[in-house]
Amino acid sequence: MTPDYVLFHYDEIGLKGGNRSYFERKLKQNIKAVVPSGTFTSIKSIQGRLVGKLSEVAKPDFTSFKPSIEKVFGLAYFAPAVRCTQNEEIISKTAVSILNELTFSTFRITARRSGLDVPLSSQKLNENVGALVVEALGKKVKLKNPDAVCHIDLFDKSAFLYTDKISGPGGLPIGVSGKVMCMISGGIDSPLAAYYTMKRGGKISLVHFHSVPYTNSASIDKVKEIVGVLQQYQPRIVLHSVPLADIQKQVRTDTDEKYRVLMYRRFMIRITEMLSNLEKAKAIVTGEVLGQVASQTLENMQAVEDVSSVPILRPLVGFDKREIVDQTKQLGTFDISIQPDQDCCSLFVPKHPATKARLKDVEHNESRLDVDTLVKEAVNQTEKFVM
Ligand code: ATP
Ligand code: MG
Repeated sequence: MTPDYVLFHYDEIGLKGGNRSYFERKLKQNIKAVVPSGTFTSIKSIQGRLVGKLSEVAKPDFTSFKPSIEKVFGLAYFAPAVRCTQNEEIISKTAVSILNELTFSTFRITARRSGLDVPLSSQKLNENVGALVVEALGKKVKLKNPDAVCHIDLFDKSAFLYTDKISGPGGLPIGVSGKVMCMISGGIDSPLAAYYTMKRGGKISLVHFHSVPYTNSASIDKVKEIVGVLQQYQPRIVLHSVPLADIQKQVRTDTDEKYRVLMYRRFMIRITEMLSNLEKAKAIVTGEVLGQVASQTLENMQAVEDVSSVPILRPLVGFDKREIVDQTKQLGTFDISIQPDQDCCSLFVPKHPATKARLKDVEHNESRLDVDTLVKEAVNQTEKFVM
């Protein structure tokens, strides 16, 4: 039987009390955004879940949309379902029909009621429908780990039957946590940091710094390719591509060699903060990991963070490199990230950068520069891509 509805279940949204309708609305929008328009004639929120009604054209195609829906954050699971009335005989016939399409030898019926207006008992349904399936199809009931489970969800004066319960990615719907600027380098770590930001409901915009024409534009191309992967989760992503070379030249001329990398980073944060304000983003995300490389010490993080008035989040702070590599391979960004490029931070870099920089020394060096003008110029030269 072709499913005519899709049930969407979330778990954490349920916990959010007063925000619930806002969360449901976002989830609804996000589901609609990953399937062709007109897939659902309606998606309604009914007793703690979303119920999508498939349009006639979409019904036969539903299987092809599964991979996209599987990536919608906020979904605990979803299930293409057949709807019928709350009548035991009709439910039994429907159960027989949908089970008859599967290959299995053992099965279970799992009925579940929500709301007070359901006239049927779920235990009775399990037994009676089960007995009919045994009779009609000659299969065996097995309560623990059966080959097939026929779910019967009873609510809204209807019964929804399904055998295919598909896991979602969990998390929160993108957008419910607000907008976040993710600094993305073309390296391995930052795409995963962006992924985790989206997973917790952050709507991401990306900021990438490059040193063209002193480096080639490979890092920009890589970042665009990474955006292609991240778009499976958030279809519309804004990418800011910021030229850093002029600032780097100025830093090289006017400041102590060992603070250069930190200076670059402080400029990156200032520029990202200014872009955040323009985009009304509430936080900055980086792919930094505590102690992963010599420069990622708490002292350096503090020296960089000091210039920001928006919070800086580091979703990967506790990850080992190996975990990051495994996860980015799964995500699909690893192979892109390891392609060679010329990172802007490697331009004009000293042999011995400071690892435990003192803020006072960094500030003293920076006072030789016209910071505000440099930041504004970089923001003015920023290229914006809506992807
Ligand atoms: P990644 O693998 O993400 O490049 P990394 O291990 O190379 O990280 P760093 O080079 O110290 O670490 O960069 C730390 C973080 O700073 C990055 O994860 C990213 O968020 C940000 N960052 C570094 N370089 C850039 C850049 N060119 N453009 C935008 N953000 C950057
Ligand atoms: Mg890097």
